[in-house]
Amino acid sequence: MTPDDLAFDQRHIWHPYTSMSAPLPVYPVTSAEGCELRLASGERLVDGMSSWWAAIHGYNHPRLNAALKRQIDAVSHVMFGGITHPAAIALCRKLVAMTPQALECVFLADSGSVAVEVAMKMALQYWQAKGEPRQRFLTFRNGYHGDTFGAMSVCDPDNSMHSLWKGYLPENLFAPAPQSRFDGEWDERDLAPFARLLAAHRHEIAAVILEPIVQGAGGMRIYHPEWLKRIRKMCDREGILLIADEIATGFGRTGKLFACEHAGMTPDILCLGKALTGGAMTLSATLTTRHVAETISNGEAGCFMHGPTFMGNPLACAVAAESLALLEEGNWRTQVAAIERQLREELTPCRDEPGVADVRVLGAIGVVETRQPVEMAALQRFFVEQGVWIRPFGRLIYLMPPYIITPEQLTKLTRAVREAVKNPAFFRA
Ligand SMILES: *Cc1c(COP(=O)(O)O)cnc(C)c1O
Repeated sequence: MTPDDLAFDQRHIWHPYTSMSAPLPVYPVTSAEGCELRLASGERLVDGMSSWWAAIHGYNHPRLNAALKRQIDAVSHVMFGGITHPAAIALCRKLVAMTPQALECVFLADSGSVAVEVAMKMALQYWQAKGEPRQRFLTFRNGYHGDTFGAMSVCDPDNSMHSLWKGYLPENLFAPAPQSRFDGEWDERDLAPFARLLAAHRHEIAAVILEPIVQGAGGMRIYHPEWLKRIRKMCDREGILLIADEIATGFGRTGKLFACEHAGMTPDILCLGKALTGGAMTLSATLTTRHVAETISNGEAGCFMHGPTFMGNPLACAVAAESLALLEEGNWRTQVAAIERQLREELTPCRDEPGVADVRVLGAIGVVETRQPVEMAALQRFFVEQGVWIRPFGRLIYLMPPYIITPEQLTKLTRAVREAVKNPAFFRA
């Protein structure tokens, strides 16, 4: 990697949510191993992000790599229309077995956002097929469901700048974000605005869509499980579908295999992605019940109207099946529990800093919310100098490391966060 390569990158390559005229610096990673990213300079960084929730088993995992290589030698890709293959079948068998019993029918797609599009389209087609078209979704503020237009229409209207798309974006219904905290008292009053919206629009709402227990990119908020029980009841009473977007929370991150388990709740439609492949490839799955699938299939279209080119990509399915096999062995439970204990112990002292508004921990997720937004470039540089990869945004510095992280590596991450929040230079005035 030469300085010229980096100059080319700056001039020609868009990175997530960055400006092309004033791009933030990027750090060249040339390889990664276990819980460490290696930079072109030779520096090694302990990874605190799991590449955005995905790399739960760490990088360059021998079993994930072997699964990929086996599949490459068989077939890397083949169309899914009219064709099936062993990798998709093996993966879907596992998904049907590990998710709640009622979820039986799997739609494979290429990314989390598309899984959300698929879920929303399923809900629309379901009501269309029932001869009672419904076209609105009810959700919480502070949600994040992806960057395609359907998904964006249920993201937090301010964070995702709905003002930019006015007149183009469907106008959905937003209840205030849950206030009752996961580890706090349930406050019955929390429910009222949501219940009012649902009642007022009960003949228009196709589905409620939410991120169970943890609202991820929309604010890293962790809420009370009673919410899920109550929403399930309200939806059942009105016949409204419930979509759980577990793209971030799925596969053990919150201490349960799926976050819905904190409330014993089964959604009608479940979206999975991110950690599905252990972070090796992009893949998503949308699962639903036999009832929803059959209602859609018996409707006017006679089928579900979706079929991406790379649907069920064999390489992605093969590595996903192996990642799920690793999870089935069960070590994640003790790993995530140990990470949770250590995050609580080592991040809680941040509460004493005047610049810190809140500290929250659940499973292998640790969040420090600051009072002022971070100075991204300066703080990012500081973290790299400390030998850690932590990517803050807005007023959030958060950790979600691979489950295989060692206590020493995790301490390195938490120490860097504690040092950072002490320094006003890393925060906007
Ligand atoms: C990341 C995320 C998505 C979007 O997934 P992509 O793979 O980035 O399209 C959707 N929902 C939630 C909850 C997410 O965290």
